[in-house]
Amino acid sequence: MRPIICCDLDGVLWRGETPIAGSADGIAELRAAGLRVGFITNNSSIPIAGYVDKLRAFGVPAVAEDVCTSAQAAAALVASKLAPGAAVLACAGQGVVDALMERGLRVVDAGPVEAVVVGFHRNFDFDRLTVAADAVRGSALFVATNLDPTYPIAGGLVPGTGALVAAVSTAAGRTPEVAGKPERPMADLVRARFGNEGIMIGDRPSTDGAFARALGWPFALVLSGVAGTDGEEPVPDPPPPFVAVDLARLAPLILKSLPGVS
Ligand SMILES: [Mg+2]
Repeated sequence: MRPIICCDLDGVLWRGETPIAGSADGIAELRAAGLRVGFITNNSSIPIAGYVDKLRAFGVPAVAEDVCTSAQAAAALVASKLAPGAAVLACAGQGVVDALMERGLRVVDAGPVEAVVVGFHRNFDFDRLTVAADAVRGSALFVATNLDPTYPIAGGLVPGTGALVAAVSTAAGRTPEVAGKPERPMADLVRARFGNEGIMIGDRPSTDGAFARALGWPFALVLSGVAGTDGEEPVPDPPPPFVAVDLARLAPLILKSLPGVS
């Protein structure tokens, strides 16, 4: 059976709004060899339709079923623990709001809630921190979409969800359950969607590499994001089975490793 190629987005296909050169060609090369490619991101702020549009705009045709986000993993985690219609505070972007509603949960801005989901959003501020921390300090289920400390954008890094979660966690004195890579809810989502055999491509060893290990899949590291000589994370020692400067250079290495695929 051919493995599914699961590909992280930030730092692999793009940095913010800037495409990483050759990445669309790399995906096309994998697909031309008959491999299915799924896109797995810890960035929960953008709704699925937004990712499909962004992928298409970057020259990578995709449908909703190709994309798994930490927002979906977080919503699945909440839905597994609460009754339909339960009130959930989304201290997060539209992607989390959509995913929670899709699971039959009621998204509210304030008031008594049974769960709080913290995800990436750029309008996080003192007031939102106050509301989220108040809810978490009670008995609400506390879920983080992911703990990535930063995201790579053109020319640098911006604070990631982990930084926002740390603020809520510190103010509330509680530790969250984490849904996204490398944690179990995302692994369950990926297995249910794509099956048990795959290769995980990513730029962050601490999440993408750990996620590959959690799935029992080979990790393919690209150095176009947070890892590398000048990067935030070192290349693991020993290195993962595939390492390349970018997706364009990585795709041929993966294809060469798969007998019967060319
Ligand atoms: Mg990434």
